[in-house]
Amino acid sequence: MEKKITMSHALSAHLRAIKLLNGVGAKLFAVMTLHAIVGALTPYVTVFFSAQILKELALQRRADVLWQWVIVGVLCTGAFAVLKAFLYQRDTTLLDDLWGRKEILFVQKMFSMDYADMDQQTTHDLRAQIRQTENWSGWGLMRVLETYEAGLKSVIGILSGIALTVSLFTSPVPDTAGGFTILNSPVFILVLAAVMVLVSMLAGACSAKSTSYWSGAAEAATFGNRLFGFFGFIGTHKGRGTDIRMYNQQHLVSAYWDKNRAFGTNGAIGKLARGPLGIYSGLGTGITVLVTGSVYVFTCLKAWAGAFDVGSITQYVGAATAMAGSIFELTSLIGTLKTNTGYLDNTFRFLDIPNAMYQGSLTTEKRSDRQYEVEFRDVSFKYPGAENWALKHVNMKFQVGKRLAIVGENGSGKTTFIKLLCRLYDPQEGQILLNGIDIRKYNYRDYMDIFSIVFQDFQLISQPLGNNVASSAVYDEVKVRKALIDAGLGDRLETMPDGLNTQLYKDFTENGVEISGGEAQKIAIARALYKDAPFIILDEPTAALDPIAEAEIYAKFNDIVGDKTAIYISHRLSSCRFCDKIAVFADGQIVQTGSHEELVSTDGVYANLWNAQSQYYT
Ligand code: ADP
Repeated sequence: MEKKITMSHALSAHLRAIKLLNGVGAKLFAVMTLHAIVGALTPYVTVFFSAQILKELALQRRADVLWQWVIVGVLCTGAFAVLKAFLYQRDTTLLDDLWGRKEILFVQKMFSMDYADMDQQTTHDLRAQIRQTENWSGWGLMRVLETYEAGLKSVIGILSGIALTVSLFTSPVPDTAGGFTILNSPVFILVLAAVMVLVSMLAGACSAKSTSYWSGAAEAATFGNRLFGFFGFIGTHKGRGTDIRMYNQQHLVSAYWDKNRAFGTNGAIGKLARGPLGIYSGLGTGITVLVTGSVYVFTCLKAWAGAFDVGSITQYVGAATAMAGSIFELTSLIGTLKTNTGYLDNTFRFLDIPNAMYQGSLTTEKRSDRQYEVEFRDVSFKYPGAENWALKHVNMKFQVGKRLAIVGENGSGKTTFIKLLCRLYDPQEGQILLNGIDIRKYNYRDYMDIFSIVFQDFQLISQPLGNNVASSAVYDEVKVRKALIDAGLGDRLETMPDGLNTQLYKDFTENGVEISGGEAQKIAIARALYKDAPFIILDEPTAALDPIAEAEIYAKFNDIVGDKTAIYISHRLSSCRFCDKIAVFADGQIVQTGSHEELVSTDGVYANLWNAQSQYYT
């Protein structure tokens, strides 16, 4: 935000933003343009007709002509007012709609970027920063619309102003006016016009300067917003209610918040408003009044000297004042344009995060024999930015149809192994092969399709049960039911008020059902079963299940998965006894492989863990 922003950079950033927004809310720009034109012309319409009526009143006083001006004037002013009100409504509705629509840009980006980037804290921080600056003062993409409308309006305002004020400068005072004839001197007129334009620009520059101080408050405001987002709603957070009461945490919260109020009168923004931001803003408005005053004096002097009638005074003063306002607006927009460019740069930095992951084009050939073989060949992996290797020289081969268990203590690399297998990350060293071919060479979507995974931190959506299981609004009801029954949720399904149409959670409807952690896990398992992929992976699937449910799931699972390859991750060894092969992870490495019987009778990590855990099972 510190570096100097050039005008061409600012304009190209704004142009890009307009194109982007136009892509998600196309109609808005047409309406906005019309609204700006009508809005800019309106004051001049009033000024023009009032002037004609006054002129007629002051000079010839013809009743029929007066009536004509009054009727045409009322009709035109009325038509403009109605049109403006209509366009305002359309404009606001479309704008409100766009606030939601433009989120699509961010959501799409979030889902299309490489998982490794999506998983990075810096990516989330950048996104949060964009959202927060937008929330506290509207800087960013949406501010571009305001700037566009205001810019258009002021350009049209200036042009209309010129059209209505040219004769103010060109109509001469009569030669008989003595010293006033100086008002006819072209040099005088040019100097006066230049001074007026320059002073209006100076006013605009003050306003622009005032605007630039907002950037200085950005950090404090972002933090303030973050605090507000967290502490402002802490009382409504379901999960925290008990802790807050038991430990009387509300004092802790309010004390912290009181000390860090960015938006309070003594906060960073309040101080700026009392200081330079407020001073420059006031100066800008003050100077504008000066311009208006000078226009008054000049116009009145010319009228006094006989250059034109009293009706024209209304026209000139009204038009010149509106024009000075437009010049002020256009100049101050330069400040807005530059300040906002810093925020747009942030937005584009997020939207331009490149997809660095290589994506091949081979299909995974949906083999009817489901013959797949996966091999990890000397794979090592480090999370982006991490110092330590999460996996070190992992070698492993397994075939479809087998049951593989991955066991090991927390942090030993089990989940990381799965994340590499599913290509959420690529290893820095070594290769993962599917049927002998590096998985990077397959089409990414195609490759993802051969895995069904239940991660530990799976999430269900506040949508009907059936949609959750199928991950789709249209689904095969029989298949969904079977998946739920297989996952052990059959009895609960019977009691659901609307069966598969039962809404999960109460976020959107009172009739939604709250489900327990164990039930949620069963639904997540049903979702994996419904996908019917050749590989099914359960990452600590039973962590939220009670021991009876766990036993039930494991007893059935062998049958349920049928000819699929199942990979279980667990640190409860008893859960993995039935697997064909067990890989024991320790400190990012596979330290042992074998069947339960083989491993338990060999000295090593597995036997130690088994002995430590078995006392709880017996
Ligand atoms: P497990 O599944 O066996 O509990 P993980 O595979 O989750 O272990 O973690 C292996 C190691 O990688 C741990 O040291 C963990 O702290 C680290 N780790 C896991 N996820 C991340 C991440 N997103 N960024 C950085 N380090 C991570």
